[in-house]
Amino acid sequence: MADSPVELPGRLAILPFRNKVLLPGAIVRIRCTNPSSVKLVEQELWQKEEKGLIGVLPVRDLEAGAVGSLLSPGVGSDSGEGSSKAGVSPVETSKQDTKNGKEPIHWHSKGVAARALHLSRGVEKPSGRVTYIVVLEGLCRFSVQELSTRGSYHVARVSRLDMTKTELEQAEQDPDLIALSRQFKATAMELISVLEQKQKTVSRTKVLLDTVPVYRLADIFVASFEISFEEQLSMLDSVDLKVRLSKATELVDRHLQSILVAEKITQKVEGQLSKSQKEFLLRQQMRAIKEELGDNDDDEDDVVALERKMQNAGMPANIWKHAQRELRRLRKMQPQQPGYSSSRAYLELLADLPWQKVSEERELDLRAAKESLDWDHYGLTKVKQRIIEYLAVRKLKPDARGPVLCFVGPPGVGKTSLASSIAKALNRKFIRISLGGVKDEADIRGHRRTYIGSMPGRLIDGLKRVSVSNPVMLLDEIDKTGSDVRGDPASALLEVLDPEQNKTFNDHYLNVPFDLSKVIFVATANRMQPIPPPLLDRMEVIELPGYTPEEKLKIAMKHLIPRVLEQHGLSSAYLQIPEAMVKLIIERYTREAGVRNLERNLAALARAAAVKVAEQANTLRLGKEIQPITTTLLDSRLADGGEVEMEVIPMGHDISNTYENPSPMIVDEAMLEKVLGPPRFDDREAADRVASPGVSVGLVWTSFGGEVQFVEATAMVGKGDLHLTGQLGDVIKESAQLALTWVRARAADLNLSPTSDINLLESRDIHIHFPAGAVPKDGPSAGVTLVTSLVSLFSNRKVRADTAMTGEMTLRGLVLPVGGVKDKVSGH
Ligand code: ADP
Repeated sequence: MADSPVELPGRLAILPFRNKVLLPGAIVRIRCTNPSSVKLVEQELWQKEEKGLIGVLPVRDLEAGAVGSLLSPGVGSDSGEGSSKAGVSPVETSKQDTKNGKEPIHWHSKGVAARALHLSRGVEKPSGRVTYIVVLEGLCRFSVQELSTRGSYHVARVSRLDMTKTELEQAEQDPDLIALSRQFKATAMELISVLEQKQKTVSRTKVLLDTVPVYRLADIFVASFEISFEEQLSMLDSVDLKVRLSKATELVDRHLQSILVAEKITQKVEGQLSKSQKEFLLRQQMRAIKEELGDNDDDEDDVVALERKMQNAGMPANIWKHAQRELRRLRKMQPQQPGYSSSRAYLELLADLPWQKVSEERELDLRAAKESLDWDHYGLTKVKQRIIEYLAVRKLKPDARGPVLCFVGPPGVGKTSLASSIAKALNRKFIRISLGGVKDEADIRGHRRTYIGSMPGRLIDGLKRVSVSNPVMLLDEIDKTGSDVRGDPASALLEVLDPEQNKTFNDHYLNVPFDLSKVIFVATANRMQPIPPPLLDRMEVIELPGYTPEEKLKIAMKHLIPRVLEQHGLSSAYLQIPEAMVKLIIERYTREAGVRNLERNLAALARAAAVKVAEQANTLRLGKEIQPITTTLLDSRLADGGEVEMEVIPMGHDISNTYENPSPMIVDEAMLEKVLGPPRFDDREAADRVASPGVSVGLVWTSFGGEVQFVEATAMVGKGDLHLTGQLGDVIKESAQLALTWVRARAADLNLSPTSDINLLESRDIHIHFPAGAVPKDGPSAGVTLVTSLVSLFSNRKVRADTAMTGEMTLRGLVLPVGGVKDKVSGH
């Protein structure tokens, strides 16, 4: 687009533009498929080293609307270069028929010389036809003097229309032209600023405005609009600068106006849209808020629905009356009123409570119940027997006020699962209510509705959730309820468990009595001791002391592994955990009376296997090659060490049905370590700790099962005092005194001193410590352990590491019968 006038040759090969105009300054990309145009491009541009100009001449279809490709069909004449038979007049458009005479076309008398900016050649696939893609830039106007053909395309003798430089300079002085230029520029500027808000690229056009002569700008601007062919032609015909400028100004202005109008319309539409959208959003939000508050948009219908629900709830007559009163109150309130939502929530609760709904109790089949208990639980013969008795009594006398069963034992011994088995046997629903940490009576009995945010207590809430009035309700961890200033939960529980009182259980929130007498209560506790005696009195305690390693092994093989495999969508066709490995897990990875951690560890193995199986199944389906045993995903997870906590495959379905498995994965020690990490417990611990004289090993019982308790004694220079540390209770302190006295009295017999008149404590103090200083310890059964520790200290001989002791000793050295040995032993 150089400013210097283009050297226009006398003859130009003519590329016809059908119903289109190329204006100077415009750039177009065209695809030539027509044989004559292809020939033209090939000969005039592609094959020429020095690429010249070609002329672009608009042609008009006489049949309106027959606009095909940009290029006109070839006007074939093989007579080589010769004079035009069409007799093109220099001024007017000419008329010429195509070869077959069917498509009369008009050649326009003015055209634009163009140069090719880019050329590319292609070959159409099946036909092998050559095509060209040409990017052309329009340079200057010309008029056709004479049209002729050269081979299969046209050439024209042309003359330039643009002014020479001097002519231009002269013309620029014309005040009319100056005014027109200014007007054009202003309009153009306005257009640019409007466009600028929409697209960033117009800044380049802005630069043009300052650098390109205005008469060229006029063409460039107009070329960029979509205007009709006629208008394009008249622009092309505007050789005179003044005409051109005023035409361009008019077109630019029109374009500008149309943009502005369009903008206004879209703004309006957008405005309306966003307004309605906003409204929609606000309505949605309002609905959400109302729902949250328990009141709905369609309040009236809603209250009606609530009333219907209340009618169907089967409330006793007096409660129905009370509920209706409350409903009347609600009706009078505005949903925005403060008390509305709480009143509503209250009525919802009334409507939701199972006043009459019960699960049908089917005829109790004791044999089936026993089978089901056996099926779910290994061992526990006595416990199961007791449960069967309990059920038998219920069968004979359904209304009998049997005692409340309370399973007492460390975690993971099957208390919860036994209780749920009872529910299953009775065909009742099961609900667990956790009482652990309940200190406030309101947790059991609810807050009065006068409190903000008041709620019903856990029992009523549980009944609402289970939605029948005769579930088996497990009061879990009943020993963990403490009492403090906020009331005594235990006394509330007393009322719950008392058959005389629980017919009319009064929840503060509910404020009307609810009949709990159809509920079957079962309780669990870790320890009996913290349970308040009056509460204990109402319950029949069944102790589950925990399992020996052998029992755990059996439980794992028979119950836990099949269950865990099933839960993970696996079967033994995929994962096998040999007995020896289960033993290792019990010994090295768990130290508990129950089987909870054992179950967790087995689940970790199952998860790891599930990932592998799923991965393998994928790879099997995708590729033919079978994956090595450990796959990358599993490996990378295993490499992290520690327990693999993966929630990779939420498998609701059984993988074994879906995939075919080549061979089961068998857990070995390496996999144990990979999945579960290094062993957590080691037998060497005891041996290391008793490596010096004065340390002995005792056995104690805690709420988590049996534990070993080390006793460390040491002597130092002093005055014969006994120091005791390790959070000891009075009983255990006395045992220590007693043990020391006994050892001193027997010093000679025990070969601790040569003669009996030597004071063992001569100028030395004894310090006895029970490690794990943070844990309170008490009880008399450390007697023998203390004696052993002291004898070891004085005789300077080590104690056996593989024996642990328990037993109370009298001053005279009698060891009393020991209790709870199984409890103390289990957990190792
Ligand atoms: P608790 O309530 O005593 O803390 P759970 O009843 O939750 O313990 O038992 C933990 C897991 O151990 C459950 O999956 C349970 O089925 C299982 N389990 C405990 N004891 C046995 C047993 N004797 N036979 C089979 N599974 C048992």
